[in-house]
Amino acid sequence: AAAADENDVVVIGGGPGGYVAAIKAAQMGLKTTCIEKRGTLGGTCLNVGCIPSKALLHSSHMYHEAKHAFPSHGVKFSQLEIDLPAMMAQKDKAVSGLTRGIEGLFKKNKVNYVKGFGKFVSPSEVSVDTLEGGNTIVKGKNIIIATGSDVKSLPGITIDEEKIVSSTGALSLSEVPKKLVVIGAGYIGLEMGSVWGRLGSEVTVVEFAPDIVPSMDGEVRKQFQRMLEKQKMKFMLKTKVVGIDASGDVVKLTVEPAAGGEQSTLEADVVLVSAGRIPYTAGLGLDTIGVQTDKVGRIPVDKHFMTNVSGVYAIGDVVPGPMLAHKAEEDGVACVEFIAGKEGHVDYDLVPGVVYTHPEVASVGKTEEQVKALGVAYQVGKFPFMANSRAKAIDDAEGLVKILAEKETDKILGVHIMAPNAGELIHEAVLALQYGASSEDIARTCHAHPTMSEAVKEAAMATYDKPIHM
Ligand code: FAD
Repeated sequence: AAAADENDVVVIGGGPGGYVAAIKAAQMGLKTTCIEKRGTLGGTCLNVGCIPSKALLHSSHMYHEAKHAFPSHGVKFSQLEIDLPAMMAQKDKAVSGLTRGIEGLFKKNKVNYVKGFGKFVSPSEVSVDTLEGGNTIVKGKNIIIATGSDVKSLPGITIDEEKIVSSTGALSLSEVPKKLVVIGAGYIGLEMGSVWGRLGSEVTVVEFAPDIVPSMDGEVRKQFQRMLEKQKMKFMLKTKVVGIDASGDVVKLTVEPAAGGEQSTLEADVVLVSAGRIPYTAGLGLDTIGVQTDKVGRIPVDKHFMTNVSGVYAIGDVVPGPMLAHKAEEDGVACVEFIAGKEGHVDYDLVPGVVYTHPEVASVGKTEEQVKALGVAYQVGKFPFMANSRAKAIDDAEGLVKILAEKETDKILGVHIMAPNAGELIHEAVLALQYGASSEDIARTCHAHPTMSEAVKEAAMATYDKPIHM
């Protein structure tokens, strides 16, 4: 057992990786302390990421629906307006309720919570400058680094969080910008672009790469981009921003083709820089104890999440792998299970990805491009929501389900869904892949009618046979 002041597990960082690891450790009977500098728990995800963005996506979607969809459902308003402060207050309430909820879970599970900035003084000691002032040393037999990630800036661009904002600033603009330029067509840029576009901004997305969301299945991506364009989002692909001037009332951006060529100018009231995120380990004292990082600053770990220093572990956004909250949580649980001498397991091939636009795009497993590259013979089953009765009933029928299955065995290799609630629909596919199911296993599973999920069943039928409703 640990000495009175010594923990079995110390977690630095209270994000989805860190707080989940801390709760799991305490539940397993380990004496646990979690150190968080922010003053609130939940990390990037709860405070300035997943949760506030989904709150604003929902609020802005409601406005957009009220304006564009309600009349055709026979619901009419004489007046419709946006109360932005109220919208922001609802988002803030969701965030504070959830972050306080985690504090409650810490108490319930007896996780000791230290508010302050932690830095290593030895592989088993963390010095914490506490938020209330002063310093304390927290000792642990095992220390988990869960310090997450931070916004990546671009050379020559200074984020002031007013006119040139990161995702954090884009979550709390005080007015709807007339023109919003988004640099980077990843999921964060597209989600935040959708929020402000629905509220009235003219949105232009500038992307260096030839495609938006490069990890997406190509066919689904094409439809997705068309859908966003229908919503008036403009794309400048294969384009780089070479200069930015924020000295005047409007921001002036100079852009040129990625391959070089003629320059042009764009104007914006607000520019969102969403060109990726970088691991955050500033001031953590990794050098002091000799923890290695790779060339982009991530901390490499072994199969048990241990760094090159014995007893020091790392999880979540700070280690190589997808920077997603649910992946960080899986890391956290598995890492603690290893520390407790049990088996932990995360299947990194089956981490679902979701873009929470409208419709949403969700995927798990391999894209068609990846399957092709593997050289396996495969079948594709597709089913459009236009032929799904529930989607038609609610008049929200854009999108499709696409299932890739191995030709010889019918084993499912990848599933891609574009639908209003694709982020929920994807999980039967995640489970199917987890169990190594065949497409026929899904097709022969009874799905309730009328549901959007029936489109998953019909796409599964289409891989090896014919769907009924197409
Ligand atoms: P973080 O959440 O970054 O938490 C790390 C914590 O450690 C921070 O609170 C930080 O203050 C603290 N910390 C750092 N250094 C120290 C120190 N030295 N001492 C004490 N504390 C320290 N992911 C999804 O899965 N779904 C989404 O919908 C989604 N939407 C997103 C939207 C936006 C706008 C952004 C920015 C991100 C989004 N993400 C989403 C990504 C998600 O937020 C991250 O993958 C997730 O938060 C990573 O968890 P983590 O615990 O590794 O790190």
